[in-house]
Amino acid sequence: MYEPYPVPELARDHKKFRYSSLWAFSKQDLRLLTFFIVIAVFIGLGTGYFWSCILCAFAVFCIIQLRSLYLVNDWISNRPYDVPPNLGGIWGALLFNVYRAQRQERIVQAEMVGLIDRAQSSLVALAEAVVLIDDNNQIEWWNPAAENLLGFQLHDRGRNILSILRQPSFIEYFNHIDESPDGLKMKSSVHEEHYVQVKMTRFGGESRLLVAYDVTRMHNLEQMRKDFVDNISHELRTPLTVLSGYIETFTDQEDINPRWKRAFDQMQSQTRRMNALVNDLLLLSRLENEKSIAKNQIIEMPSLMNQLFDDAQAYNVDYGHTLNLDIDSHCELIGSDMELASAFSNLITNAIKYTPKGGTITIGWHDDGTHGYFTVEDTGIGIDPKHLPRLTERFYRVDSARSRATGGTGLGLAIVKHVLMQHNAYLEVESKENQGSIFKAVFPKERLFHSN
Ligand code: ADP
Repeated sequence: MYEPYPVPELARDHKKFRYSSLWAFSKQDLRLLTFFIVIAVFIGLGTGYFWSCILCAFAVFCIIQLRSLYLVNDWISNRPYDVPPNLGGIWGALLFNVYRAQRQERIVQAEMVGLIDRAQSSLVALAEAVVLIDDNNQIEWWNPAAENLLGFQLHDRGRNILSILRQPSFIEYFNHIDESPDGLKMKSSVHEEHYVQVKMTRFGGESRLLVAYDVTRMHNLEQMRKDFVDNISHELRTPLTVLSGYIETFTDQEDINPRWKRAFDQMQSQTRRMNALVNDLLLLSRLENEKSIAKNQIIEMPSLMNQLFDDAQAYNVDYGHTLNLDIDSHCELIGSDMELASAFSNLITNAIKYTPKGGTITIGWHDDGTHGYFTVEDTGIGIDPKHLPRLTERFYRVDSARSRATGGTGLGLAIVKHVLMQHNAYLEVESKENQGSIFKAVFPKERLFHSN
């Protein structure tokens, strides 16, 4: 624990000694010199050695000044923290001012050290790991939790952080911290099967503050949820295929009893809905396991856009909307064609579904040099702005009855969001109730490929 220097009391009373002007602190010296000269004049006139006595008076005065100078030097060089020698005149004033400035500085220093000490003790007590990294990527300081969570040891001080936390995902995050505002979840290098969430912030130029905490429990719960949805979707697939097979056979029979016809039609539509739901859940769970997706194919956008447009026209038969295709970019996309086609098609079918008959839907692809934009604009029912932040959540619907009536699973936009995340892209939605919406998938420059 740091012990601040004891601050000695001031040797003199501030009020008695006000060395505010040169004249004020020179007065004592002048009085002394006058006193010596008067004595010298009397002795000089009495003895007849007038000038010699005056010279002696000056010499004594100089010796006194030299002694003071010696004491000042001795104090500054050897005992700067002691109470200064009690001197009068100009030297006393000098000492007083130096001592006062020094004392104030020590008070400020003691306060700062106390503050740092308090901040440090609270960081030491934190359950989260806190690490200070300097602008050369070297570790400056860490708290005990960092030893436990990240495996830092005493000899790691001054070492490059990237030589200790060597996971490629961490190196990638370290070099691009601004691109991951939520930080990084990574495997603990100390405890097997443990996960830590790491978040870094820049301060004082290029120095960084790293905060990490254990998220193993959250990770396990999330994994359990994913496994459960994945397993149940797989398990449902076989019985559903059997059921829909039989239902289809019965429905197609020509001599079917009309009393049963309606029931079989309903069974068929419900099994189709369940099939769509299971397929969407399986797709979502595949998207969450991002490693399984190849994201480096060059996708020829004109051909993909035309394919999407043809599919949209087929789906549009019952709705009778006017469909437009607007391609204004020579860029191709780099990504996974199946996943992107599925995401784009979700946006298009939504636009068709949520636009009253006879509306206009425009599907577009353009770029502005820094981003690529896939857009779907409709003149449909629009969305109240309060729903926008939650729109991409699983099973979030603005109007559940309408969504079900249109055969929606409530997973379409969640799939879109995941596919875009996998491509470092994001979804922007602009919408006005009863006027229409624009859904925009925004791709970064790295995902664009200039073909010519
Ligand atoms: P769903 O299968 O219900 O369509 P989505 O995830 O695709 O599920 O969409 C979520 C909700 O967002 C929908 O239920 C609907 O309320 C709203 N929505 C999506 N696209 C549009 C659109 N183009 N116009 C109006 N509302 C939309």
